[in-house]
Amino acid sequence: MAKTTIGILGAGYAGLLALKVLQHKAKKDVAITLVDRNDYHYEATDIHEVAAGGQGPEKIAYPIKDVVDDKVTTFIQGLVTKIDKETKTVEIEGHATMTFDYLIVALGFASETFGIPGAQEYALPMDDVETAKAVHEHIINKLVDYQTSKNPENLKFLVCGAGFTGIELLGAMCEQKSGYAETAGVTDDEIQIMCIDASSKLLPMFPDELTAYGVKKLTDQGAVIMTGKGIKEVRDGAVVYEDNSETHEMKELTAGTIIWTTGVSGSHVIKDSGYEARRNRVSVTPELQDPDDDHIYVVGDVSAVMDDESGRPWPTTAQISLVMGHTAAENIIADMAGETLEQFTYKTQGTVCSLGNTDAIGIVGKNSQVKGYPASVLKKVIMNKSLMETGGMKEVLHKGRFDLYH
Ligand SMILES: Cc1cc2nc3c(=O)[nH]c(=O)nc-3n(C[C@H](O)[C@H](O)[C@H](O)COP(=O)(O)OP(=O)(O)OC[C@H]3O[C@@H](n4cnc5c(N)ncnc54)[C@H](O)[C@@H]3O)c2cc1C
Repeated sequence: MAKTTIGILGAGYAGLLALKVLQHKAKKDVAITLVDRNDYHYEATDIHEVAAGGQGPEKIAYPIKDVVDDKVTTFIQGLVTKIDKETKTVEIEGHATMTFDYLIVALGFASETFGIPGAQEYALPMDDVETAKAVHEHIINKLVDYQTSKNPENLKFLVCGAGFTGIELLGAMCEQKSGYAETAGVTDDEIQIMCIDASSKLLPMFPDELTAYGVKKLTDQGAVIMTGKGIKEVRDGAVVYEDNSETHEMKELTAGTIIWTTGVSGSHVIKDSGYEARRNRVSVTPELQDPDDDHIYVVGDVSAVMDDESGRPWPTTAQISLVMGHTAAENIIADMAGETLEQFTYKTQGTVCSLGNTDAIGIVGKNSQVKGYPASVLKKVIMNKSLMETGGMKEVLHKGRFDLYH
C-alpha cells in the first residue's frame, strides 16, 4: 500500500517538533519530506546574542540531519517559493515540485519594515543566523575602522524598536560594551548604545514595575532609550523621527550602525501563495488547519489562532510554536486513523525577557513576577527545555545553557 506523504516546510520550532512526533508515532505509514533553506536548525530566540557578539552562531544551531530519521524522512535543503493548494504541490528553488497528501507549513517569521522609507536599504534586519552574523560583522567593522578613521559615528549603535527583541538585543549589546570599546581603542563611555520606539509604553506584556526594572538596568549601563518617537524614514547613517506628535516636529538621529527590530510578520511565501492573511499570518481553525483545506496545517509564526480568553490571537512565540507543531502532527495521525482531531490549547510556562546573560524580567504562570538573576536562570531553563524538545539530549549537552553561575 502506498504510504501517506507528509511535507513539512520549515525546520524551526514548530516544524522540527512536528517531525519528531510524526517520526515517532507514524513510522510505518508515512513518507515525510522536510524542507528548509538551511541544513541547520537555529534557536531563533537567541539570535540577538549572535548579533551582539555574546555567542557564536555555532552555539545556537545544530544540523537538521541530527533529528532526521532517514528511514522515514527525506530532507531537502532548498528555498520554498510557493504552495499550490489546488494541485497540492510545493515549489522549491532548484528542486523538483513536491507533492503531498498532508502539509505542515511552518516557515516562521521575517523582519517587518511597515513600509517605512529607507528601512530596507539602510537598516540591518535581524531575523535569522545569517542576518544576526551580518549585524555583528557590521558592528566589528565599524569599531575596527574607528581605530584609523576616528569617525565618531562608528561608536554609535541604534536599535530601532524597543519591543521584546529590541530590548533583548539592547541588553546583549550593553553587556558587550567593554569589548566594543576595547576593539575601537576607546573608553566604555564613548560607546553609545541607543534605542528608539514609537510607543510610549514599553513591553506591555509585563507589569509596569518589571518594565521599570528592565529600563533602569539598561539605562544604568548607559543605554539611551527614546520612547514615543515614531520613525518616519531611515537614511544612510541616520533615522528621521517625529519628535513631537502635536507639532509634528521632525528630528534626525545619526549612528554608524542601525539595527531594525520593530516587529515581525510571517514568511512572504504565505502572500506569494495567494493566502489572504494579515501580516502573513493565516487565520487557522482551532485544529490548526487551513480553513480551505483540512489536509494543510499552518503553524508557528505563519499562523494566527484565536485565544478565546483574551479575544485576540495568541502571540507569536517559540513556546507556542512548539505546541502547535505537536498538535498538528497529532492531528495528522488522528486524521489518518479516522479519529477526532484535537483543538490547540496552550498553557504558558512563563514569559522571560533577557537583559543580558545574568539579568532578566519575567512572568511565571499567570501572574508571578520574577526579575534579576533568578529570571535569567529561568530563561536558560526554558531555552534548554525547548532544545530538548526539538533536538533531544545530544543537542542539550552540546548547545544547552549551563552558564548559570557567575
Ligand atoms: C531575538 C528574539 C528573541 C525571542 N525570544 C523569545 C523568547 O524568549 N521566547 C519565545 O517563546 N519566543 C521568542 N521569540 C520568538 C520566536 O523566536 C518565534 O516565535 C519562533 O522562532 C517561531 O517559530 P517557528 O517554528 O514558527 O519559525 P522559525 O523559528 O522562524 O523557523 C522557521 C524555519 O523555516 C525556515 N524557512 C523560512 N523560510 C523558508 C523558505 N522560504 N524556504 C525554506 N525554509 C524556510 C527557516 O530557515 C527556519 O528554520 C524571539 C524572537 C527573536 C527574534
